Amino acid sequence: MLEEIELYAKENRVPIMMKDGIEYLCNFIKMNNIRNILEIGSAIGYSSIKMALVSDDINITTIEKDENRYNIAVSNIDKFNLRNRINIILGDALETEIEGEFDLIFIDASKGNNINFFNNYSKNLSSYGIIITDNLLFHGLVRDESLIETRNQRGIVRKIKQFVEFLDNNNEFETEYLDIGDGIAISRRIK
Ligand code: SAH
Ligand code: MG
Repeated sequence: MLEEIELYAKENRVPIMMKDGIEYLCNFIKMNNIRNILEIGSAIGYSSIKMALVSDDINITTIEKDENRYNIAVSNIDKFNLRNRINIILGDALETEIEGEFDLIFIDASKGNNINFFNNYSKNLSSYGIIITDNLLFHGLVRDESLIETRNQRGIVRKIKQFVEFLDNNNEFETEYLDIGDGIAISRRIK
C-alpha cells in the first residue's frame, strides 16, 4: 500500500520525502522516543503514515492547505486505519492555530515560508523538542546556483538561504545540517 502511494506521488509529481530522508526521520523518531508530532505539509499523507507506523504510541497532527491533496491524504490514512492517530487539518499553516505541545515539529511545506512556520509553531514545541525542516538543498540548487532555471526557483533558493541564516543566528536553537534526502536541518533548543 505504501508503494501505491509512492507511485501515485511519482506520477502526479507530489513532492513526498525522498527514501533516505524519510528513513532517517523514522529512525530518528524511534531513537529519540518521539510520541507527539506536528507536521506542516501533509501532501497525500505519505510521511505522516510512515512516521505513525514507527510505533503505536505515536500521534500526529498534520496540516495541508491543498484540498485535493488533503482528500487523498484522508483516504490514504483511512486505508492504514490510522485516523485515530493522525489528525489531519485542512488549512493554511500560516494562519492555523494549533493547541498542545509536540516533541517533534516537521516542517515540509512551502519552502519560502520556513521562517514563519518556525516562528509560529516553536511555541508548540516541548522544552526538549526538536524541529526538523526538509528540502534545505532544494535539489542541489542551493549549492550550485548555475542549476537554477526559473525566476521562481531563484526566489526559493534565496528564501532557503535566508532560512539558514536565520537558523545560524538563532539564540534559542542550535542547528545541525545533514545531506540526507533533499537536505534536512535539525534544530534543538539550547539549554
Ligand atoms: N510531507 C509530505 C510532503 C509535503 S509536500 C511527505 O513527505 O509525504 C508539501 C506540501 O505542503 C504540499 O502538499 C503543499 O500543498 C503544502 N503546503 C504548502 N504551503 C502550505 C501552507 N502554508 N499550509 C499548509 N500546507 C502547505
Ligand atoms: Mg520535502
